[in-house]
Amino acid sequence: MPSNILRASADAFSRGPSYTVLMPPEADLFALLRRYWGYSTFRPLQEKIVQSLVGGRDTCVVMPTGGGKSLCYQLPALVSGKTAIVISPLIALMQDQAAQLAQMGIPAAVLNSTQTSGEQSDVTKKACAGEYRLLYLSPERLARQDTITLLRRIPVAFFAIDEAHCISEWGHEFRPEYRQLSSLRVNFRDLPIAAFTASATRRVRHDILTQLQLRDPAKYIASFHRANLRYVARRCEYGEQPALLVNALRSYADGAIIVYAPTIARVEETVDFLEEQGIPAIAYHGQMEKEQRRINQERWMADEVRVLVGTIAFGLGINKATVRAVIHLSLPQSIEQYYQEAGRAGRDGLPADCLLLWQKRDAGLLAYFIDKITDAAEKERAWQRYHTIRRFVESASCRHREICVHFGETPKWTSCNACDVCSGLPAFLFTAAPTGRTRRRRKGSADARSAQLSASAQLSARVETPVPASDVDSDLREYLREWRRRVAQQDKIASFMVMHDSSLDEICRRRPASLDEIRGIPGFGEKKTERYGQQILQALAEFKNGARASALLEVKSNPAEETIRLLGEGHSFLEIANLRGRHVSSVVGLIANLVEKGELEFQPEWVEEAKLASIEEACAKLGMRALKPLKDALPPDVTYEDIRLVIARLRCAHRQTA
Ligand SMILES: [Zn+2]
Repeated sequence: MPSNILRASADAFSRGPSYTVLMPPEADLFALLRRYWGYSTFRPLQEKIVQSLVGGRDTCVVMPTGGGKSLCYQLPALVSGKTAIVISPLIALMQDQAAQLAQMGIPAAVLNSTQTSGEQSDVTKKACAGEYRLLYLSPERLARQDTITLLRRIPVAFFAIDEAHCISEWGHEFRPEYRQLSSLRVNFRDLPIAAFTASATRRVRHDILTQLQLRDPAKYIASFHRANLRYVARRCEYGEQPALLVNALRSYADGAIIVYAPTIARVEETVDFLEEQGIPAIAYHGQMEKEQRRINQERWMADEVRVLVGTIAFGLGINKATVRAVIHLSLPQSIEQYYQEAGRAGRDGLPADCLLLWQKRDAGLLAYFIDKITDAAEKERAWQRYHTIRRFVESASCRHREICVHFGETPKWTSCNACDVCSGLPAFLFTAAPTGRTRRRRKGSADARSAQLSASAQLSARVETPVPASDVDSDLREYLREWRRRVAQQDKIASFMVMHDSSLDEICRRRPASLDEIRGIPGFGEKKTERYGQQILQALAEFKNGARASALLEVKSNPAEETIRLLGEGHSFLEIANLRGRHVSSVVGLIANLVEKGELEFQPEWVEEAKLASIEEACAKLGMRALKPLKDALPPDVTYEDIRLVIARLRCAHRQTA
């Protein structure tokens, strides 16, 4: 793999003016890396950043997610023998990290408002006694006056600010409570502060340095160029997107896939649609039951289901190396957001695709929401982001290059060979093969489009779909994955905390025969080897004796059939929604589709007679293309669901008479 690093500015070894050096002179960073993390080498930039913090210097790090950011502050924390305070915006993320550290034998804790007062006082007591190497706090918690008092009683080594771009209103995820972090310098004049972010433009980086009042900080900026990713942006004509999505998903033979949908309703519709097409998929969004969300995420992490369809709520803190494609079904709000989400693909360094299947109406929708922003300055920034992302998708210059330039980096090359502009569209995105649900298109434009596409097909030279060469016995991999799932359930942790996919594959390749050989597997430090080594040897022995993974996937029934069956059993829409773990609107959407296609008969009890008549009347007057004008024209007690059902009935009747 080519080096990811273009520059590492500032000299890590020249010390800042008044700080205390953290590291005892005898500490051996490599020995600790080996012992706790199970790695024998640092990844690019990691060692310099660790040295900088160990040297007690303020530090600012911009490193793509998956580059190994957390180790950069965890290792100095371990070395210090004191406590690093980590500020992070997401409770789930903090808990994951603390749990992973516990797995490695490094004492760490989280302090947040979801804990009982008993738990909080327990953590506080231990923190004051200096028992933790890392303590995670949310920015809200830090803003409390009593937290500052508390921190004065803890032997703090340094502060690490994660997702530091949240401090800048020029960033894409500005969080006002991050502004409170400027009090750190005021209250703790002598302690080093380190800021970490995965995506920050020059302007945002400048804001981070100023707001946090970093003093002569060491700055490390990894390159934004991820050469193993192929960026493809394809504008979809009306009704074309579902079929292109199916084409794309069918073309990836192996590995996990993330599909980002703009709304919860679209997430659920997409999952149902994919299942109808025989592609198992799992949903993830912010309004799901917490437990269900956890289960879904876990099933995807453990490769039980390859395709996860989520809103942008999905992905923060997700550490899965083998994602082969990230597919967006709408325009993101900014390049930063896109870079961060698409960047979840290919963290193992193998080829992976980032497909942006956008539609003209996305732009309209973004513009609509920006128009509603009341704060004038914020509105202006949102417009800037909007114009930038539109330029990006409509641009005729290399997409890799555009991204680098956006983040203030000037690549020496002009063409990447790994984006649709430089190498043409992949074949599976040329034309939308028919699926059960594609709508009829206006003929002229569709023909023109496909002629244009087949012409560019001939010009494209790039080899098709990246399928990583697999040198791993798939039976053994499956067997070990099943073992890992079982262990994770017993230990009540996520599968990847038992071991990452890359470690699992390495075990399949090397088939270690002793604990010593397991220690040689990347990711197996002392603690992990001690905890799981013996069991892994046992599992390998069982496999050698012929044991195999039991059949895994329960065959899910088709959502349409399932819904028809439940209706037949007399369940209400709400009951069906609950039974299928869906929103009522999604269930009604599915039913309306079936009615429209003539596969299900409209039932009079679904919509009261008077409402039905008034909806039909409104449809005759206003047409049926958009729901909103109909909803606005009708009495408030007529719901969108009512309207969708009646439209489906009308369309079905039109078709039959046509
Ligand atoms: Zn390119």
